[in-house]
Formats: sequence, structure tokens, C-alpha cells
Amino acid sequence: MEFRSIYGTGDILPEDSFKWQHIEEKVKKIMAFYNYKEIRTPIFESTQLFSRSIGEDTDIVRKEMYTFLDQGKRSLTLRPEATASVVRAYLEHNLGKVFPFVKLYYIGPMFRQERPQKGRLRQFHQFGAEAIGSLDPLVDAELIELSTRIHHDLGIEDYTLHLNSIGCKKCRSAHRDLFIKFIKDRFENFCSECQLRLNRNPLRIFDCKKEGCVKILAFAPKMIDFLCEECRTHFEKVKSYLKKLGIEYKEDPSLVRGLDYYTKTVYELKSSLLGAQDTLCGGGRYDLLIEELGGEQTPAMGFSAGMERILLVLELKKKKFGEDERLDFFICPLGQGAKEKALKLIKDIRKKNLRSDMDYLNRSLKSQMKEANRQKAKKVLIIGEEELKKGVIILKDMESGEQKDVGMNEFLNEISAYEE
Ligand SMILES: [Zn+2]
Ligand SMILES: [Zn+2]
Repeated sequence: MEFRSIYGTGDILPEDSFKWQHIEEKVKKIMAFYNYKEIRTPIFESTQLFSRSIGEDTDIVRKEMYTFLDQGKRSLTLRPEATASVVRAYLEHNLGKVFPFVKLYYIGPMFRQERPQKGRLRQFHQFGAEAIGSLDPLVDAELIELSTRIHHDLGIEDYTLHLNSIGCKKCRSAHRDLFIKFIKDRFENFCSECQLRLNRNPLRIFDCKKEGCVKILAFAPKMIDFLCEECRTHFEKVKSYLKKLGIEYKEDPSLVRGLDYYTKTVYELKSSLLGAQDTLCGGGRYDLLIEELGGEQTPAMGFSAGMERILLVLELKKKKFGEDERLDFFICPLGQGAKEKALKLIKDIRKKNLRSDMDYLNRSLKSQMKEANRQKAKKVLIIGEEELKKGVIILKDMESGEQKDVGMNEFLNEISAYEE
């Protein structure tokens, strides 16, 4: 074969695409319940937008972005995540002017050139929500509740909610010196990756999954012990709201998230069914990002969830999809006259919002019936020379095997009863 899909990308074939539609429809419906409105931003943006918001020292910006020069020699990047784009659009269209509090969601592909051995896709898909304009811990609780609700409704209940606060600028500077000292004292024991991180962005060391590093980090000074008064009160409120909502959580002082823009509350939903890459969904506050991108100081919070991971978990749970994907009718015409009759008939059936299809390959009745079975049609309509003369069709119920002649007009009146 001459052409193949690019390494790290994949086709979503008909045998799977209906599962994607199922998830997307659920997400859209639930987002509407919570009054989050969809926003669609371009797939590519200026490279600066991502390097400034996600952080120069993060793995994403340093080695995972798809960056290229266009014909005008501008540096562009395929979006590695959506929050930066949403905030850019929020500022560009001054969305905060009309609504002081804005709730948005997105669904779509993201792009990261990750190391192939991780077995991750380089075009992957996320949905997520952003709530911009309020510092109230109520927003944190709502977004966390929303993300648990979506997973719950999709049939994923076996997850753990990990919760932490990584504070604000003020609390971070208090933590930083002690943390750096802690790492320096044990420098030789950390992996080479972590040793590099010490100079670039020490907090990123918490992202390391290597056993040796994780073990030492368990004793490192934690952000949570350095929270300023405001951050501490905020975190206490978030936890009390979650309790009121009946949402169980696990405080996880080592949870920091791999992006620079987070402040205060951060959280992840982790599934025990997944291996090392066990995060289904993650998010947090980013109270400084909008100012960083040139807007006024505006608090905000969001989360994103990976569609591939969700599908993986649902497959592991042997979730059944798609009973409603079956054809209502498959029409088998035999001969030119019957074909013309079928052409008109199928239009009328589809007008009743019923799923239907017919034979396009001039096959024998036997082959057409085989096709109807392959398509899992509930009912088959057979039109032959004989039926055409009599003005009837043969209606066969594929489940019971029952078969009868029905007048053409009678049939059309009858299928009105199928309408939902
Ligand atoms: Zn603080
Ligand atoms: Zn390490």
C-alpha cells in the first residue's frame, strides 16, 4: 500500500464511530444541563500562545508540540490542549464584557508528539469545560461535580478523585526554597530527567513516575503545608462543598498537574482499570493565566478528559453500545420496475425518520437477504415482478421470521405508527 495514516494517528472506522457519537452526545447533553455553552476554536494557533500559557519548561512545550512555519514564516502550533485557545478566544471577543461569568465547553482533537513507546496517539481527543470569571470555591465544586457526573453517566463509576491545592504565587515562593534545598541534598538519588528539572522547573519533579524518585518525593516538603491564609480557606471550602454534594475525594499532596498555569485547586479522576496512565480527567484553577495572556486579572477554572481513555475503560468494562444502530428496514427490489418503486418507497420511509437502506448491487434475493442480516435489519421489504403487478410488498419480520403481503399504501400508513 502506498499511503498509510501518519504514525501516531488513527482512523475511527464505522465499527467504532458510533461509540464516539454516543460519548459526544452524552457530553453535550450534560454540559447543557449545567449551562456550559460550546466553543469551537481553530486547530492551530500561534506558537507563543501555547509556550506562554502552558509554560516553556513543561514537557509539552519542550518536546511534544507540532510546530511549523507557514508560508508567511509565522510559527504555528497544532493545539496540544484547549484551555489556552479558549482563553485567547475569550479575550479576543471580550466575552467577559457581556457575561461577567462565562461557562464554556469544547470537544475535539489535540496534538502532541509524545514518545512512541508510551503507546499514545499523537492526535488524540478531549472534551472539557472552562468557567471564567469567579474565584468562588463553588465553581471548583461545580466543575468537579460536573466531571464526575459525565463519567458516571457514561457508565464509569470505579474512579478515585484525587484533590490537592498548589496555592498561589505567594505560597509558592515560601515552598520553593525549602523544596529546592530538599532536592539538592539528595541530588544524586534522582533520575537524570529530574536533575534537569531542578534548574528549569523544580515542581515538575513531582511529575516523575520513576519509582526511585517517587519514593524520595514522599518525604519532600509539600505545597499543601505552605498555603497562605486565602488559599487554605479556599481549599477548605472546596472540600466542604464536595462533602455537601456527597462526592468522595482523596487528598493527594503530590498531585501537581503537568502545566504551569494551575493555581489553588487541582484534581484528577483516576481509574484503577488503567495502568500507569491512569488519569481519566484532570483540571484545576488557573487564576493567573488570563492576565498572563494580556487580559485583566480574572479567576478561572477548567478540566479536560480524554476520550480514548474513556473508550478504553468502557471496553474493559465490556459496555454494550449501539442497539439503536440497527436498520429498521432493508428493501430488496428484484428487477428494474421494482427498483424504481423502491427508490420512492425508501424516501417515504426515511421521511418518517426510520433507518433504512436497500440493495444497490442488483444482487439475487438470496444475497440481498444475506446483506439484510449483515446490516442487522429489523424488517425486510421484498418487491418482485409479481408484487409490483399486485401493488403489494412482502414484509418480513427478521426476528420472528413471519412474512406477509401488505398493500403499498397500507404499508405507508402503517409505518406512521413507528414514529417516535
Ligand atoms: Zn496562596
Ligand atoms: Zn525522576
